[in-house]
Amino acid sequence: MDFNADYSLTINGQAVRTDDEMDVINPATGKPFARSPKAGQAEVDAAVDAAKSALAGWKALGWEGRREKLIAAARAIEPHAEAFARLFTMEQGRPYDMAKGEIDLGAYWIKAVARQDLADEIVEDSDTRTVVVRHEPLGVVAAIVPWNFPFLLGIWKIAPALIAGNTMVLKPSPFTPLCTLKLAELWRDILPPGVFNVISGDNDLGPMMTAHPGFAKISFTGSTATGKRVMESASRDLKRITLELGGNDAAIIMPDVDVKAVAQKLFFGAFYNSAQICIATKRMYIHEAIYDELRDELYKLAQSSVVGDGLEQGTMFGPIQNQPQYDRVMKLIDGARSQNLVLLEGSAVPDNGGYFIPITLVDNPPEGAPVVTEEAFGPVLPLLKFSDIDDVVARANASEYGLAGAVWSDDIGQAVEIANRLETGTVWINDNLQNGPHIPFAGAKQSGFGVENGKEGLREYTWPRTVFIPKQKVG
Ligand code: NAD
Repeated sequence: MDFNADYSLTINGQAVRTDDEMDVINPATGKPFARSPKAGQAEVDAAVDAAKSALAGWKALGWEGRREKLIAAARAIEPHAEAFARLFTMEQGRPYDMAKGEIDLGAYWIKAVARQDLADEIVEDSDTRTVVVRHEPLGVVAAIVPWNFPFLLGIWKIAPALIAGNTMVLKPSPFTPLCTLKLAELWRDILPPGVFNVISGDNDLGPMMTAHPGFAKISFTGSTATGKRVMESASRDLKRITLELGGNDAAIIMPDVDVKAVAQKLFFGAFYNSAQICIATKRMYIHEAIYDELRDELYKLAQSSVVGDGLEQGTMFGPIQNQPQYDRVMKLIDGARSQNLVLLEGSAVPDNGGYFIPITLVDNPPEGAPVVTEEAFGPVLPLLKFSDIDDVVARANASEYGLAGAVWSDDIGQAVEIANRLETGTVWINDNLQNGPHIPFAGAKQSGFGVENGKEGLREYTWPRTVFIPKQKVG
């Protein structure tokens, strides 16, 4: 398989080419380096037809049969992990080692989810009857994926949807289609035709999918604004939806932490993947007793960070993934500058047309500043001072988002009490960025609708069929 060329759609297990194509830009240079297919209505229709035709056979394989196929699909990734990772760095920007981490994690995730199942549940077993709940696949699932974790976030949808007996049409982000197109190519001979279809296109393709009556469910990861459009479109024929959306996560740092010991972990929790993570720390509330010391440690880390092309040895942080996102982050930074907020800028970045932004800390801005209230999704982090627990909890919760949060303290009991007051789907104590195939992940408030991962996530790819079985014959 040639990872450097020949990017085609996969529909019904076949390569499909389109008349139109789109440039794929390497964010480390700002220049196109590949062309990807641009699908339209005809390809959506063909992919849905193929996925529908594959449904009965895929369901008939049962959990064991599907498990075998999915584990084979996961194993097939492993010998190509380096080629995937190189392509990932070129289209997404993340440094190679960390890109490889996402590919390896993807293969692991498929296997872990494929080993799960949803057994029938007996909810009543009385003298007269047994009542059983069975978990039936929904049908054809549409998966819509963003550009920040283009491989893994697709797998978060593929693995549970397929093991539960659904078939799928997946649309990667227009900014990062290539690894997903290659994944589908790799699986053409491993999964039965039509079970897994991938179509790439521009931003018109998503609405074509959400409007298509052939889908039973839309599983979407992306911004809250787009998530609302998906929900509206899906409401027309009551498609099931799972929405994993934006976040503006707060970390609360209590005065009893060992500042030097936690600084590095806090720094990576905010800036890993150049801060383009839904669950990155995006507001850091630091107790006033340690504020100056921790700010200075974080600033030192920013100054010693190497931001550059992810294919170069030693790069710690890559570029922003795309031009519109670069513009959004720069607008926040320029806005903070024009408000005379104190910006602490990290090491210099390459000036070569790539979408590079220095790691930037904002020194105790007012709570209402856009750099605090908006989801930056880029390497600009407000550090905010607090002195009172009730006050900091109220400030952390004063957001329309509720994805994740963290409390850092040596007093675990107190940290748990604070964590229990945070209005977020996930809360970590003395940690960040943790999740797992067995751990439910869900956004509170406007960070999401529904659950991914864990048994709860798997169940979202099924509908419950309740069957009443009498113990006596009629009459
Ligand atoms: P986005 O909403 O712009 O795009 C996401 C996907 O939706 C892309 O594939 C895009 O082509 C498609 N799309 C665009 N318009 C559409 C429409 N009208 N109907 C259907 N699909 C449409 O988001 P993005 O910029 O790619 O990703 C960044 C956002 O994603 C951030 O807000 C981030 O917090 C969020 N995110 C959330 C999670 C999570 O699990 N909660 C994970 C990663 C990213």
